[in-house]
Amino acid sequence: MRQDKIFVNGCAIDLYSLNTIVVGSGAAGFNAVDSLYDLGRRDLALLTEGVAMGTSRNTGSDKQTYYKLTLAGGVPDSVLDVAQTLFAGGAMHGDLALCEAAGSAASFAKLAAIGVPFPHNRYGEYVGYRTDHDPRQRATSAGPLTSRFMAECLERRVKAREIPVFDGYKVIGIVTGGGVCRGLLALNKAGLGDLEKRFALFNCTNVVWATGGPAGLYACSVYPESQTGASGIAFEAGVRGRNLTEWQYGIASIRFRWNLSGSYQQVLPRYISTDAGGGDPSEFLYGHFPDATRMLTAIFLKGYQWPFDSRKVDAWGSSLIDILVHKEMQEKGRRVFLDFTKNPSVLASDFSNLGEEALAYLKNSGAMQPTPIERLAHLNHPAIDLYENNGIDLARERLEIAVCAQHNNGGLAVDCWWETDVRHFFAVGEAAGTHGVYRPGGSALNSGQVGSARAALYIAERYGEEPLPNADFVACAETLTAEKIALSESFLNNKTGRTPEKIRAEIGGRMSKHAAHIRSSDGVRKVREESAAQLKTLAGETILRNPQELVAAFENHDLLVAQQAYAAAMDDYIACGGGSRGSYLIYDRDGMVVPAEESMMASVQEVAYDAGNCRVDWGPVRPIPEPDAWFENVWREFRDDRSVR
Ligand SMILES: Cc1cc2nc3c(=O)[nH]c(=O)nc-3n(C[C@H](O)[C@H](O)[C@H](O)COP(=O)(O)OP(=O)(O)OC[C@H]3O[C@@H](n4cnc5c(N)ncnc54)[C@H](O)[C@@H]3O)c2cc1C
Repeated sequence: MRQDKIFVNGCAIDLYSLNTIVVGSGAAGFNAVDSLYDLGRRDLALLTEGVAMGTSRNTGSDKQTYYKLTLAGGVPDSVLDVAQTLFAGGAMHGDLALCEAAGSAASFAKLAAIGVPFPHNRYGEYVGYRTDHDPRQRATSAGPLTSRFMAECLERRVKAREIPVFDGYKVIGIVTGGGVCRGLLALNKAGLGDLEKRFALFNCTNVVWATGGPAGLYACSVYPESQTGASGIAFEAGVRGRNLTEWQYGIASIRFRWNLSGSYQQVLPRYISTDAGGGDPSEFLYGHFPDATRMLTAIFLKGYQWPFDSRKVDAWGSSLIDILVHKEMQEKGRRVFLDFTKNPSVLASDFSNLGEEALAYLKNSGAMQPTPIERLAHLNHPAIDLYENNGIDLARERLEIAVCAQHNNGGLAVDCWWETDVRHFFAVGEAAGTHGVYRPGGSALNSGQVGSARAALYIAERYGEEPLPNADFVACAETLTAEKIALSESFLNNKTGRTPEKIRAEIGGRMSKHAAHIRSSDGVRKVREESAAQLKTLAGETILRNPQELVAAFENHDLLVAQQAYAAAMDDYIACGGGSRGSYLIYDRDGMVVPAEESMMASVQEVAYDAGNCRVDWGPVRPIPEPDAWFENVWREFRDDRSVR
């Protein structure tokens, strides 16, 4: 890595030149840089806005799942079977499904070898369990914090190998030239108050974008607060979005962000809504079910049917609850809580009006105590401790909830080496849009590991060139840098306006209201129009209390670009006749639910953003490839070019 100083518009800026920079310190980013090192590359660095930030490091769930090829027992499984399961989720390209399946065992074995505590039996079998959309028992878990263990174990390797880490740098622009990525422009968070230190430029042959999901788009979110995402910057640089309509949403607590799945629902808490001040409590669910039994069954089932699923609404299914929670909040302006201190008032004291499945479960588990909190204490005391450790006493307080964004199945469009249309720019982990409409639980973590390893292999084999000479790089970077300097100057010099927090609340509020699990043509168009208007005025309407807030102001810029691309994708999907599927319902103008349009599961939507305009295209899903499986032939090809092409 070379270090120089250059001048843009009279402003001195540090310039680092190196072969590859990986952006993001989640499980995907650390694995990308670590894999490059394994492959003999040394001119590398990892850059992050904060090593301890992001989803992998700061999230979890009851039993955070990792999906992989079966590695235990006698049930037959194969790479092709796994690929078919992934592909069956709809709107997913077959080559990506095959790569994720083929890379699964090696990626998993690496994690286990470096210390992620995935459980195995005495004979070394990694026994699995069945997760959602899984025909086998391919799922495993290292407990509630699987992704944290992954990030930590990978980080240890990166440290031991002394791979340089730029900690505290926020990328705000991607430098391109002739459709090729040339580097990055970042804010140096430690130097924001000083113009000479505020910016840093990175001149590199390759960028691996491991910036996670665009979590900041939603106000109701179970992503950790430190995760904002940076997909807008990539759209601005010409990277296309794929399957941007596809997300996962579910019920989570909002003061401390945590999914309310598993035992939190199986103990049958009371759902109540209140006015803004916490008064006028109402058990709002009951009026929407024909009887108590069906309401209690829906609550119980939510335990293992956690994500909102458009197919689980009819006939008083568990996802009806997510709709009712949304209505209370977004239409009536009320707050919604789970109360573990009292039973739903319709629950008979002898549980005689419980459905068969719920009753059998509670009886078999010895969880027939009189109140939800006592049942939870019996079933899963750590679930109570978790809240206690985060300042919430479930035995005394109501738990405020919302239907929250949890994962983006779509993202940046990549090929089977996780390279985007902007050459030398790779997107891995949640930033990449590799999943379809449905996906097995745990396949996000698998995809992040496989994709980052494949991007590393491609770079190591094909993209070893030196970065550009400084003068050529400056020619590519000048305009972008000058624009971002000018934007920062407006943010800093405005005397009136709204704070970045206030603007963020507006960005997230409109998305949670109109473009989450409940969508309509009018709603998503409103999001599109409002975000376009807000992007135009952002430079003049943001007021900062100190230079540290530049980071949040640039995040808002990124999010508004992303919001346009996401809303354009949703708008076009509805206009093309797309109905309710995956984790969202589409309503028509008469308030009727639009049914799924099955034929659209065989197409993939892509969005290109260009200076405020979005172009949307559709194409057929690529089938699962059927490559030559004759060993001698594969060996010959592998000897030629390691089959990296
Ligand atoms: C509550 C919850 C439960 C989940 N459960 C599961 C599960 O059971 N199984 C499963 O497979 N998946 C699950 N997921 C999803 C999974 O955890 C994430 O998809 C995955 O951890 C993302 O990893 P990543 O490395 O791609 O991104 P992240 O871990 O989010 O890392 C992104 C990194 O990029 C950095 N960054 C972002 N923008 C910039 C920028 N502009 N400049 C510099 N740095 C930047 C961030 O600070 C962070 O370090 C869950 C997610 C949530 C929220």
